[in-house]
Amino acid sequence: MDGRDHIAYFTMEIGLTEAMPTYAGGLGILAGDTVRSAADLGIPMVVVTLLHRKGYFTQKLDATGWQREEDVVWPVAELLQEMQPRCAIEIEGRPVQVRAWKYEVKGAGGYIVPVYFLDTDLSENAEPDRSITDHLYGGDPHYRLCQEIVLGMGGVRMLRALGYMAIKRFHMNEGHAALLTLELAYELSKQAWDLAYEQMQHTVRPELMQMVKPKCIFTTHTSVPAGHDKFPLELVHQVNTGYGDAFAELERGFCPENELNMTYLALENSHYINGVAKRHGKVTQQMFSKYEIHSITNGVHAATWATPPIAQLFDERIPGWREDNSSLRYALNIPKRDIWKAHRQVKEQLLALVNSRSAGGFEPDLFTIGFARRAAVYKRAELLFWDTGKLQEIARKFGPIQILYAGKAHPRDTAGKEVIRRIHEVKEKLKGAIKLVYLENYSIDMAKLMTAGVDLWLNTPMPPLEASGTSGMKAAVNGVPSFSILDGWWEEGCIEGVTGWAIGNDHNGGPENRDTRPEDADALYNKLEMVILPMFCNESDRYAEVMRHAIALNASFFNTERMVSQYVTKAYFK
Ligand SMILES: *Cc1c(COP(=O)(O)O)cnc(C)c1O
Repeated sequence: MDGRDHIAYFTMEIGLTEAMPTYAGGLGILAGDTVRSAADLGIPMVVVTLLHRKGYFTQKLDATGWQREEDVVWPVAELLQEMQPRCAIEIEGRPVQVRAWKYEVKGAGGYIVPVYFLDTDLSENAEPDRSITDHLYGGDPHYRLCQEIVLGMGGVRMLRALGYMAIKRFHMNEGHAALLTLELAYELSKQAWDLAYEQMQHTVRPELMQMVKPKCIFTTHTSVPAGHDKFPLELVHQVNTGYGDAFAELERGFCPENELNMTYLALENSHYINGVAKRHGKVTQQMFSKYEIHSITNGVHAATWATPPIAQLFDERIPGWREDNSSLRYALNIPKRDIWKAHRQVKEQLLALVNSRSAGGFEPDLFTIGFARRAAVYKRAELLFWDTGKLQEIARKFGPIQILYAGKAHPRDTAGKEVIRRIHEVKEKLKGAIKLVYLENYSIDMAKLMTAGVDLWLNTPMPPLEASGTSGMKAAVNGVPSFSILDGWWEEGCIEGVTGWAIGNDHNGGPENRDTRPEDADALYNKLEMVILPMFCNESDRYAEVMRHAIALNASFFNTERMVSQYVTKAYFK
């Protein structure tokens, strides 16, 4: 095995199982779903990520809704297999040994994709270096840069140590892994240097970077400028000592304003670049006009996100759906009452969990709205509560409404934590006609139950900042319609009144810097009152038809089987 046909997929986070807290949100979940579908399809892939020994974190919410974080302790050696080969990198002049742990993702047909988790917690390493792979997105820029050196440079070296000498393509899932492009050029320069007879300086020439480019693929995931990693050049010189002066000449190219910009580094050195939904591709093209930006719309791994009652229904009605997700279009032939019944089962499970964790007193007959994702400000979790009087008025007209929230804020995102706290405050105001619960510690298993068990999945981002969003796709697999701002994937997935509903008009990705909350909230209340609740309460047969279409039209397309197939034909083996 030399990996000649292999795709090496590099990602800072990955969501594989509930037991492994190595993801923060959608980016990591997408990585997990990508790998699962690659295994289903038998794509020769090898995955590199960091161990995150202390996890992202466990979220605790106090009575006021203020978030505190606790380290996660997880049994690394029980869940992963330690690999013998080691590799070394250099940080601040110190050698740092890197170890890898393997996890195997098995596809529907038995094909295995290995995932290697890099770990620097070795006794031969200096104390500060031992904790580099502890906390996902933890610490300051110095810590983050160390992590990205381990991922990008250490990742390539570890693949070589494991025997992958000739990788076909390197796929960077976001810019965190962009240092791998420098490592690949450095490898080439070393070979050239070793061969050279005359005395020459060890520098990496632009021609070598050009040789790296055809090997690299870059997927960018954010339209939020802060989402693009940057490091002061001074810090880079202090920390990244392993290359000496080899890149001195090239540096100016990808370091505008004396900063190492990981996005530019990846853009400059990739032959295929894509955004994660059609609109996101266009927005990204505007941000980086110098490069050609494609788009491949995200998906979810259908067999992972279909909850047992729904999966059982598919097994009976659409045999083979796990290996052929497009056959989910035949959901059109499943009787609506069967979908309704399966959904009801999941809803009862979900509400039992809610009632066991809170004094919510949720009831399965009542209309239930769900909203769960990272508590980042641009996701506008509070839009539903813009006018609590209006919301109560609607609930009095149609009967009590139940609302479920969940999601973690990044430990340093005070504004995101404030959002969670204010939602707790709203709870008091809504008492009576509306029940509201904010569930602690959103995770893979909770996402499965929530996206499947509510009656309506809500998403209210500030357009055009939602690159894709995937939780609405998980809902669709389970026959739960979305009610969302037309942004990210929903611009493609929404057929009004057929697969779900749009909130407001299409802002068409702009104009930016305009506060659209008043009009968006107005549109939200209007459609909830005039269209969605009347249908749910008085014409449940029509509501079940929308549920069925969510599966047939959206789950059959917005899945990672289709997505990975597109990466294969457009980028991996082209
Ligand atoms: C799917 C998922 C997300 C992403 O949700 P979006 O709505 O796409 O932002 C975040 N966290 C977890 C645990 C998930 O399963």
